[in-house]
Amino acid sequence: MRYAIVSDVHANLESLTAVLARIAEDDEVLCLGDLVGYGPNPNECTDLLRARVSACVLGNHDVAAIDNFGLETMNPAAREAIVWTQSVLGAEQAKWLDGLGYEVRTEEFLLVHGAPVNYFTYILDKAAAAEAFSATDAQLVFVGHTHIADYYSLDGEGRLEHGHRQQGGTLALEPDKRYIVNAGSVGQPRDLNPEASFLFYDPEARSVVWERAAYPIARVREKIIEAGLPDYLAARLGAGR
Ligand code: ZN
Repeated sequence: MRYAIVSDVHANLESLTAVLARIAEDDEVLCLGDLVGYGPNPNECTDLLRARVSACVLGNHDVAAIDNFGLETMNPAAREAIVWTQSVLGAEQAKWLDGLGYEVRTEEFLLVHGAPVNYFTYILDKAAAAEAFSATDAQLVFVGHTHIADYYSLDGEGRLEHGHRQQGGTLALEPDKRYIVNAGSVGQPRDLNPEASFLFYDPEARSVVWERAAYPIARVREKIIEAGLPDYLAARLGAGR
């Protein structure tokens, strides 16, 4: 049994379709939030994920779209995209998103959008990772939110390590270490690799494998412009930042 973990789809139907095509039918799909916001297809992406995931947590853009939460702290382009999302989001899709929780905990792992307990905190450095490790006793935490594919590990002596996986790659999980693993972003990568990021987690092999999927970025850029969403949101897809 293998998990496929996706995050930060951000209403990008083309990148989500490319990623789902790489996931096997018997893989269990987990989603780390931010299904909507920024992109032009919030309903289609919510429908696809709703039909496919076995667990999903709320992202800050999802909460903003259904409840205006945190809207005032967003940058102007993000805020404009949330207002647009609210104008097109179907009642069914909004209701499903509204039913999601902030965390999913199993015996093996914890799923949160940004960080344990402080769900929308960005883990961008070792200090933030140390705080996140101390906020939970989970051995394995999967996060998204930064749109950067990477991980932090903590050993029994309190040594913290950081590894980048922006070009894909693997991580062998050691039994005496704890991990915070970031799946990167399906729909708006910001780690200078414009291809969609996602990962596979195999609990028996104790491995995490990040992958990148090419998708028709130009088509999504056109759709963003056609929808009247900010040009900046189209431009950044090609740059992967
Ligand atoms: Zn996001």
